Amino acid sequence: MRRGLPFVNKPLHDPSGEFAIVLYDPTIDGKPDDKPEIQATEVEQEKPKLDIPLMHKSLAEILGIKKQVEGERPKVPVVIDPRLAKVLRPHQVEGVRFLYRCTTGLVDEKAKGCIMADEMGLGKTLQCIALMWTLLKQSPEAGKSTIQKCVIACPASLVKNWANELVKWLGEGAINAFAIDGKASKEELTMQLRQWAIASGRAVARPVLIVSYESLRLNIDELKDVKIGLMLCDEGHRLKNAESETYMALTGLNVERRVILSGTPIQNDLTEYYSLLDFANPTYLGTKADFRKKFELPILRGRDAAGSDNDKAKGEAATAELGSLVKKFIIRRTNDILSKYLPVKYEHVVFCNLAPFQIDLYNHFIQSPDIKSLLRGKGSQPLKAIGILKKLCNHPDLLDLEKDLPGSEKYWPDDYVPREARGRDRDVKSWHSGKFAVLERMLARIRQDTNDKIVLISNYTQTLDVFEKLCRARSYGCLRLDGTMNVNKRQKLVDKFNDPNGEEFVFLLSSKAGGCGINLIGANRLVLFDPDWNPAADQQALARVWRDGQKKDCFVYRFMGTGTIEEKIFQRQSHKQALSSAVVDSAEDVERHFTLDSLRELFQFKPDTTSDTHDTFRCKRCKPDGTQSIKAPAMLYGDTSSWNHLVNNGDAGPLGKIQDLLLRQEASENAVSAVFQYISH
Ligand SMILES: [Zn+2]
Repeated sequence: MRRGLPFVNKPLHDPSGEFAIVLYDPTIDGKPDDKPEIQATEVEQEKPKLDIPLMHKSLAEILGIKKQVEGERPKVPVVIDPRLAKVLRPHQVEGVRFLYRCTTGLVDEKAKGCIMADEMGLGKTLQCIALMWTLLKQSPEAGKSTIQKCVIACPASLVKNWANELVKWLGEGAINAFAIDGKASKEELTMQLRQWAIASGRAVARPVLIVSYESLRLNIDELKDVKIGLMLCDEGHRLKNAESETYMALTGLNVERRVILSGTPIQNDLTEYYSLLDFANPTYLGTKADFRKKFELPILRGRDAAGSDNDKAKGEAATAELGSLVKKFIIRRTNDILSKYLPVKYEHVVFCNLAPFQIDLYNHFIQSPDIKSLLRGKGSQPLKAIGILKKLCNHPDLLDLEKDLPGSEKYWPDDYVPREARGRDRDVKSWHSGKFAVLERMLARIRQDTNDKIVLISNYTQTLDVFEKLCRARSYGCLRLDGTMNVNKRQKLVDKFNDPNGEEFVFLLSSKAGGCGINLIGANRLVLFDPDWNPAADQQALARVWRDGQKKDCFVYRFMGTGTIEEKIFQRQSHKQALSSAVVDSAEDVERHFTLDSLRELFQFKPDTTSDTHDTFRCKRCKPDGTQSIKAPAMLYGDTSSWNHLVNNGDAGPLGKIQDLLLRQEASENAVSAVFQYISH
């Protein structure tokens, strides 16, 4: 407070204003011991700057005036900045309130951390920015902030993205962020970090440090002694391993409040729960040994089929207690709540028969001596074999048949051209792949009958090559984004595609391009050409289109080769999603997760089914001929057994009546064997 001015005890933003969202209401939340972290900081918003008050402050402290005055001041409401309040959707308001209550100890005084685990597309970033901005500017003490400094830790690829988001939501110049973008030399960076570390009070010119996990770890010594009011950990599922270097380094910082952001479902694994919660709220669950004794052992014993009734009861009690503890600090909402604002989403699993050429190659490969010895436990490269099958499902052109499938020459059709002989500009033979044949008809129909745009996603850049070739051959304008592109270029490409007047109606995207911030609402159709092991990766891809700002009904197609390895991958995936369980992150995990039996299953081919996945459901709603006679009482997104099941038995059958014109035309072809359909609302 400036000397000479009467002290006005009022909140920063009017709690009765048009967009007012009150996070802290002294009449409800007020407690006698509510003390902000920083006693000597004043928020200088919209006030003339003075150089002298630093002296005054210490004088006031010496005289003991300050404390006395503080004790007498009534608390004021904490109100979300109206510029944010007017853009927050209702679920985001709820999310910010949750974050605020956790981080200010209103949920539990001893635990100021939490986990924001909303699904992609719900605005985790915005919610966290709203929290951070509020804590930096306000507290229940009029004119004081709750925190002085905030660290945003994220993967290196997102540092710039976070800086952009701050400008996007708060406006240019509202906050001066210190984003470590890797441009400074090591010495410069060390200097800058030291300056950042020692700054305090009004000398904190850059209250927000945005830094990659790697840089943070490498420079941890410079930051050890800084008091950090809030740390946001983006893509925080990487903190699930308490033994990792990142985890250990980060826990060495002096942080009062930690928020973990994670869009990945948390593995249904007790140690991971423990690691994440213990990171967010150190010591709250006790030591690892305490946790093991109190929760892990009784829960595991209770789950054991051989356990006594007493064990089971104890296990259930421990699960319930852990559940209620966990619930206090985790918020997770699914995309379903978006349905209130978004147009309808029709999502389909499209089972496509392999083309005759693919079937020959598929059988040839799984019966080859290499695979036979692999399945006897003698071979050592299941991942390579899996890769070959997955590529074959997409298109034989992804493989070098002579090398990858030796001896397959006898199956080559007359029009097959081996890889070396293929010139750059040759046409794509879409009839060599069931999925490509369907895709080609879809693109033709979109072009002819609609002004829709479509996103095509694959795990393999080689598939994108074939997509590109197909588009070129048919003169379809297309844009392509894969992992090698820098952030600026990406954004330009995305903007170009989303422009309603843009020429290009096809967008090719590598699922490995990493995802965040790629918003493709210019398109209302999306094909996921092959399944990923990791359900979260597929979910991320799907969220590109059906998200805030989308105006048209959306059509999503997940292609599966009928009876092939792709169905097996998909089945594992849905199983996991239903359990919200194990997430397979890397190649080693795939090998580690497969027993010999499951490998054998993976390499089986079911040429006669219309959908192996449907067969595994033993579905009671469908008749023996495959037509669905009963609708499921409720469609659950994570459980495709509850979706509509449509078998393809010609124009007069169910596929001939489906809402989507692209799939309807498949009823008179025989490439699509069956479709599962989900309708959002
Ligand atoms: Zn069924």
